[in-house]
Amino acid sequence: MKLSRRAVQLTPSEPRRIYDEAQKYRNVIDLTLGDPDLPPPMNVRQAACDAILAGKTRYSANAGLLALRQAIVAEAKKEYGMDFQAESEVIVTVGAMESAYLSLWSLLDEGDEAIIPAPYWINYGEVVKSCGATPVFVETRPEDAFVMQSKDIEKCITKRTRLLVLNSPANPTGAVIPGETLDQLAKLAVKHDLTVISDEIYSHLAYDGRKVESILTQPGMRERTVVVNGFSKRYAMTGWRVGWTLAPSPLIRVMTQMTENVVACAPLPSQYAALEALSDRTDESYIRQEFEKRRDCVLEELQRIPEITSVGIPATFYAFLNVSATGMSGEEFAMGLLKSKQVAVIHGNAYGGDAYRDYIRIAFTLPCDELRKAFARIREFLAERSAR
Ligand code: PMP
Repeated sequence: MKLSRRAVQLTPSEPRRIYDEAQKYRNVIDLTLGDPDLPPPMNVRQAACDAILAGKTRYSANAGLLALRQAIVAEAKKEYGMDFQAESEVIVTVGAMESAYLSLWSLLDEGDEAIIPAPYWINYGEVVKSCGATPVFVETRPEDAFVMQSKDIEKCITKRTRLLVLNSPANPTGAVIPGETLDQLAKLAVKHDLTVISDEIYSHLAYDGRKVESILTQPGMRERTVVVNGFSKRYAMTGWRVGWTLAPSPLIRVMTQMTENVVACAPLPSQYAALEALSDRTDESYIRQEFEKRRDCVLEELQRIPEITSVGIPATFYAFLNVSATGMSGEEFAMGLLKSKQVAVIHGNAYGGDAYRDYIRIAFTLPCDELRKAFARIREFLAERSAR
């Protein structure tokens, strides 16, 4: 069977490859995927069960339950102090992944360029390519704590540049873009008439009391920003598959038309659960608190391994770590560690090419005692290598 050119140019996912490889080992400590191990709040789980028992198991409107869209709009008012129309400026999607996919599909023509700061969440590069557009990766640097710099973005803007993808806090680095950089980026977007996709899926997993800002609230950005968000990380609801997009109505209209052709709607019991999640009955703070505790645990363990360095983890549940002082590339480190100590981590170049070959990403989605075990195995791995 002949596959399309678009299909054959997809790059196999390295994180999935390592994850699959890790499943072949017994007693593996798996730090590969960004999938929280905590349960969602009990009232949220109950709401899904209630919906199923009440037979609320059919299709909803393509854009999602109106009540859920209204709740998302109310949430947006709290977050940004802005009013959105539930009927026309929001769509409920199958996870933030479908939000990202549909928005890129709706915005990009063949030959367009989309700027993506690296290292990046792999889906963005793949989806841009599958639209026949070109991803233009702009490196961020450890000396800037992996925060993108507007002067680097500006250098890459051409006549074909259509949009800029922002992901703050970022997967895989945890970087949070400060307000002054958002201000510069917004000016750039207005000047060059760019649309900005603002992926805010980790915005509630920021630590040390940090409040994450959005480019949406910058002057001139309301009409050119697409907010991608979802329930997976904040409420630990990855498998429930509910996300959303807030954007100007012409975009929401075509995304809603297209979702009819792809999935019809997000799963209805999950939408009822999501509606409950946004209610004032929900207290999801234990999730952020647990990840903050684990973040502290990771930083503490790292102090005992001088060959592995971090620029800090202000948010998310990822640590993007430089392993060059071990004498190994990230890939050698990841493969060697899995084989000899059964700890699975992902090499940094999986997230943005050779510039990150000295890095690994760990997802601290396991309890502290498991993380400490993983770091003990990493210390053994390094000690055994240097004894050779
Ligand atoms: N955006 C980013 C940056 C992510 O890391 C992820 C998941 N790893 C998603 C979006 C998708 O999340 P979901 O589809 O589960 O809502």
